[in-house]
Amino acid sequence: MKIMKVRQIENGTVIDHISAGKALYIAQLLHLVESSLFVIGSNLSSSKLGKKDLIKIENYILSEAEKHSIALISPTASFIQIQNYEVVSKEKSDIPDVIEYLIVCPNHNCITNTENMSSRFNIDTKTMTVRCAYCEKKYTVDDIKFKRLV
Ligand SMILES: [Zn+2]
Repeated sequence: MKIMKVRQIENGTVIDHISAGKALYIAQLLHLVESSLFVIGSNLSSSKLGKKDLIKIENYILSEAEKHSIALISPTASFIQIQNYEVVSKEKSDIPDVIEYLIVCPNHNCITNTENMSSRFNIDTKTMTVRCAYCEKKYTVDDIKFKRLV
């Protein structure tokens, strides 16, 4: 694992306001450990959250799908785009009502697993639960797995 100590990145993405303790999980989800140059800040002080995690990723722009996955894991997350050491955009995470493909249904007998079909989940942001549109089983966000994104 490459972990650098840098204050700023020249180009890339900062994922800020991650729920404390979730950064490593997000880094694994994005497969950062294998590929990019990144930094994790853990248990940092935050006026908004008390404690937060943060990830800085050099030369990387998150896809919409990646942002949706991160938002499910940590709804407080925000995404900051850096170019030439400057912040060019700041975005709050947003969780769609329906997520296709990204989530693997934990039910082994679900048709999305047995027939290798693309999944479709309805998201309830109030309770942070997801419901498979095929087998109709409900899961908490902590119970689901995400497809490999990169
Ligand atoms: Zn299912």
